[in-house]
Amino acid sequence: MFDEKSLRELASIEAGGPILSLYLNVDPTQHAAEEYRLALREMLKQVEGLVDDDDINAVKRYVDLEYNWSGRGLVLFSRQAEGIWHVLPLAVPVRNGITAARKPYISPLVELDGFYGRYAVALVDRQGGRFFLFHMGELITQEGAVGEDVRNVRRGRGSSVVGMRGGSQASGRKEAELVQRNLRDTAAALADFCQEHHPRRLLLAGVEHTVAQFRELLPVKLQEIVVGTFNASMEAGDIEIRELAFALLKDLEDKRRRELVEAVITAAAKGMNGVIGLDQTLSVTHEGRTQVLVVERDFHAPGYRCTGCGYLTTQPLEKCIFCQGAIVEIADAAEAVISQAVEKGGAVEVVDNGLLNGARIGALLRY
Ligand SMILES: [Zn+2]
Repeated sequence: MFDEKSLRELASIEAGGPILSLYLNVDPTQHAAEEYRLALREMLKQVEGLVDDDDINAVKRYVDLEYNWSGRGLVLFSRQAEGIWHVLPLAVPVRNGITAARKPYISPLVELDGFYGRYAVALVDRQGGRFFLFHMGELITQEGAVGEDVRNVRRGRGSSVVGMRGGSQASGRKEAELVQRNLRDTAAALADFCQEHHPRRLLLAGVEHTVAQFRELLPVKLQEIVVGTFNASMEAGDIEIRELAFALLKDLEDKRRRELVEAVITAAAKGMNGVIGLDQTLSVTHEGRTQVLVVERDFHAPGYRCTGCGYLTTQPLEKCIFCQGAIVEIADAAEAVISQAVEKGGAVEVVDNGLLNGARIGALLRY
């Protein structure tokens, strides 16, 4: 399974020639496999001539003959000439993308790991809790903690008709005490669970009022990693819990992206560490100043590339302004600048169309 170790391994790879990096969304809840095959063929066309034919064929062969289409995402890295071949079937959805660069394009994996890597869900009610540990959309382990049944208290003295009022008050207080004790025990059990499994983030689920009460009883260290809460029934199935947690994490991710885009736009407007628009993004990335490249999902634009130093531009220059090298036309300068940013150690964030107010691409700069 994909983990932090595989990520570090991938990050350390640097090949002598272009590595084909492929991200294919295969979410069965969205489209049929046949449509994903079509999308794959289109993407492979984009890198024809940029990577070895061997790599394109290896990917085709794998998807046609070996891949079982389980899960929601498929990530592949290939450079046959140097024995580089990594296949990562993922339980989380990925965005389609293909790049050719001497380093594997791992930003989306880093991002997926950040969002779907090692999180726990604690589903609680007034009696106990169910704890789940997920990693990259897969359930790794789960445990339960059960306290005393709250209904036992209700069946106590207060049930006789005589003295109903006084009795129900007493049992109400008893019930509240019992719930508090159960929640406290559940919080302690969750602390043990987290101690053992080290989730990076924690989601709380259940009835809103109970969840709020439970949250306050958590040790500070756990409170600090709570990123959100959602409503769920104690009888919910594992898959339902996973889907509800996904939806919440997705919302958090969308929010973070919007904030990032705002940061880029603001920095660019103030002439600080940000630029927007293709021309400026191409030049800062060539200079190695791009820390985070932000690009809208469906942005593609033709451009030109220097065959000598790799300089990218939207201008049909005679010769490269940096090295006097020959300039060739390329089909997609946006895809090319993504590879360039990765090669130079930058991160890439793909955002929803329209977020960049018409600029469509931009960057946060290192300096
Ligand atoms: Zn050049």
